Order: sequence, then C-alpha cells, then structure tokens
Amino acid sequence: MVFKVLTLFPEVILSATNYSILKRAQQKGLIKIEAINIRDFTMNKHKRTDDYPYGGGFGMVMSAQPIIDAYESIKPAKPHRVIYLTPQGKTYTQRYAEQLSKEKEIVIICGHYEGIDQRVIDMIVTDEISIGDYVLTGGEYAALVVIDSVSRLVKGVIEEKSAQEESFSTGLLEYPQYTRPAEFRGKKVPEILLCGDHEKIRKWRRYQSLLKTIKNRPDLLENFELTNEDREFLIK
Ligand code: SAM
Repeated sequence: MVFKVLTLFPEVILSATNYSILKRAQQKGLIKIEAINIRDFTMNKHKRTDDYPYGGGFGMVMSAQPIIDAYESIKPAKPHRVIYLTPQGKTYTQRYAEQLSKEKEIVIICGHYEGIDQRVIDMIVTDEISIGDYVLTGGEYAALVVIDSVSRLVKGVIEEKSAQEESFSTGLLEYPQYTRPAEFRGKKVPEILLCGDHEKIRKWRRYQSLLKTIKNRPDLLENFELTNEDREFLIK
C-alpha cells in the first residue's frame, strides 16, 4: 500500500510515521509513505501557496495550481483514490478504513488555512473525508489518522486476529483488557480471565463488549444484529 501525501508540511507526516508499528511496516516494505511538498510547485517568486478568497471573507485559500502540479508530478497508478481531508467530508469510520485498505495506492491532500480552491476538488478528488465534527488547523493530523488506521489493516502489519476482534470490526466496542500483575494496588483482574476455560472467557468478553457498547455507544446497536446468546445475556 502506497500513501502519497500532498502537504505544505511533509515533516509532520514523515516524522509522525517514523515510530513503532508504522516504522516497522515501512521497513518490511508493507507500506510506503511519501510526502510531497506542495510549496515546491509554486510558480511565484515568494513561493506563496495561498491567496485571498474571491468574494471576500476571512483567511486565505490554497491555490489550485501548485496542488494540481504536485499531483501531476507523482503520476499515481490507476485506478487510485484521491482523498481530500476536510470537515465538510463524509465521516470517517472503520468501514471506510477497511474499504481504503483494499487499494494499492492512495493520494491524500492536506488543506490548510481556509482550505483549498474548490476546483482542485472538482478536478481530482474522489473522496472528501472528515475525521469528525470539529475543525483542525490542518489536514496533516487527519491524514495521519487515515494512514494509521488503513495501514494496520494491510496484511502483515499487525496480527490479523487482533484486527478482527477490535472495536467496530465486530460491530461492538472491545471488551476490557488486562495484563500482569493479577493484582495492582488492590484491584484484581476479573477471576474468570484466570480460569483457563476459553469458552467461559469468550462469553464473558462478549457480554462485556455488549455492556460497554450500551454504555458508551448505544448508537452502534441500531444497525447491529444481536445473537440469541446476546439476548440471553441482556435478559439476565
Ligand atoms: N474553512 C474550512 C471549513 O470551514 O470547512 C476549514 C478549514 S481547516 C481550518 C484547514 C484544513 O484542516 C482543512 O482544509 C482540512 O484539510 C483540515 N481539517 C480541518 N478539520 C478537519 C476534519 N474534521 N477532518 C479532516 N480534515 C480537517
């Protein structure tokens, strides 16, 4: 999987992805992250990448020319997705990440200031994505969210089992996790996790997943089909 990120701040992308799982994934050649500096494609003396908005108003808008030229310079493989990160986009979810992880190459455009000239969106963008209903200063932070969540779904990046059982993948939030020691400051790990009976542990985890989802994200249950076992748990 190749991520080609068009940004005014390549260092933000490259430095933040140079740790831990993403670093190892790059070393193993499972993912490749390229950051292309939009500023390198300006045609004016002062390397300005933004200008005043037509029609007036506050702030500056990123000009179309350097973004389009940067995009054309990377000759993306076809077919490919071109994502523009924007609070005006469709809300990003685990399902969206799963969809994107099937691509070979993704181009990501990071906006700044008041955003980018609409003509860039009209000309090359296939997906406008928002990572949530709030406004960031720049698309780089959102790009990192997309790169990280998609990378961990690429085969070999993390253990496949681990991704399958995680929050949202099952439709529920994940059950509580514990590690050693069995007692910490008087707080004990639930007895059942120490009993060695895998079926009992599976049932306990499923029940905990249901409880956590009901408590924190009841909206997820609207489109979730409860099993007979789930119903029995909830009646008890
Ligand atoms: N004027 C824009 C608006 O009201 O929709 C907001 C621009 S924001 C200050 C600057 C850049 O940050 C955007 O172009 C986008 O790339 C990024 N950004 C901000 N919030 C985001 C979000 N929730 N999801 C994805 N990208 C976001």
